Amino acid sequence: MTVLGNIKIHWLVLAGILLGVIIGAVLNNLYVDEIRQQVLGDSYTNADLQANAKALNDALANHIKGTTLGSTLHGIGGVFLNLLKMVVVPLVFFSIISGVCSMGGSASIGRIGLKTLGWYLLTSMLAIMTGLIVVNAISPGVGADIMIPTQGREAHTPSGFWDVVVNMVPTNVVEAAASFDMFGIITFALFFGVFLLQLDEEKRNLMVGLFDAASEVMMRMTMFVISLAPVGIIGLVGFTVATSGPRIFIELFDFVLTVGLALSVHFLITLPLLCFLLTKRNPFTFMQAMSPALLTGFSTASSSGTLGVTIETANEEAGINNRISSFVLPLGATVNMDGTALFECVTVLFIAQVHASNHPDFAPLTLSAQLMVVFLALAVSIGAAGIPHAGLVMMVIILNAVGLPIEYTALIWAVDRILDMARTMTNIWSDCCGTLVIAHTENAIDDSVLFAQENSGA
Ligand code: ASP
Repeated sequence: MTVLGNIKIHWLVLAGILLGVIIGAVLNNLYVDEIRQQVLGDSYTNADLQANAKALNDALANHIKGTTLGSTLHGIGGVFLNLLKMVVVPLVFFSIISGVCSMGGSASIGRIGLKTLGWYLLTSMLAIMTGLIVVNAISPGVGADIMIPTQGREAHTPSGFWDVVVNMVPTNVVEAAASFDMFGIITFALFFGVFLLQLDEEKRNLMVGLFDAASEVMMRMTMFVISLAPVGIIGLVGFTVATSGPRIFIELFDFVLTVGLALSVHFLITLPLLCFLLTKRNPFTFMQAMSPALLTGFSTASSSGTLGVTIETANEEAGINNRISSFVLPLGATVNMDGTALFECVTVLFIAQVHASNHPDFAPLTLSAQLMVVFLALAVSIGAAGIPHAGLVMMVIILNAVGLPIEYTALIWAVDRILDMARTMTNIWSDCCGTLVIAHTENAIDDSVLFAQENSGA
């Protein structure tokens, strides 16, 4: 995926959002008064509007769906959502198997591999915890006046902790795939990958090649679906704004702020602190050295697309030995996504709070459900591809697991580009810090390169 291609998509996505907002606002403006009169009569107060928010929203959604423009928006958004759901199951299945194979097959697995995985798990969990704390402290979405038409699929109360654990082991993997049970699929794929590695060499190579190819096919298919985002977004954002009114952006402001704050804590405090404690080097000098990779990540919103720049910068500007960077960084670009993990956690809890605010029958997520969100956020961040919007594509997995309607992703699409840029930069920064820490333990950092600028400035 070229940088140029990403920039182009970036502008198209923005144009899609803008167009969606304009069309949605016009439709909303055209019909909202008429529907209020139909439902509430000629005179009504603000309190009436609030008390009947759901009935009004449903009536408006039905009315707008009855118009040509409204049904077109709804149709386009629906096709896009279905395409997103269509790719997720095979994408996760094949990419996990091919990921397990690529780790197990490499000679570098062992000491460095274990350290790498240890770092990735530790920082992803810290990122999720940061997200969890910040989202619970700020509580974006509580009392939010956002109604999303959910096509009659209201959320159900999520299952308990042990139900989740038992369901992690699928009795029938085909059924798990059909019912979108991602935990079951992940477990089966992990088992499959591990046992595939035990085949004799000829069969193993054949199977690894097959699964690598299948995973690449799914990656390309996903990229194609994401390239349709500008059009899909017109439908999703347009219909959302048409039924909820342009004020949803005000309601989303808290949410964007929450994600931004949590990402900043992880980016500027947690990761630098870990780097300092484990390597005794100035993390901000390292951050400055890695800035070409971080900024490329920010502008492309793709860890995979930035990988070449990240490796090159780590070697040339930070003095990290290629033996370490060429192993740790590619692995990180696919499996280590702190920013994505944090984003998943904050977003699902935000959506749960929005939903609970408008559906008194929906109990806010219990501790065990929040725990499930944590584990799924981790799993999803490992399974998500390093391409733009992958985190949002995978979000349907968690929404499905905790029983929230996936239509809420329509809301997030409206602001996902900017969040994606920030979380991608965080993903890459965590990979870079991991490389520094592991290179330190392997004595593979040339400090004369890393501190060259400081020294020349002194
Ligand atoms: N765009 C992110 C990345 O490439 C993945 C995501 O959408 O969260 O790292």
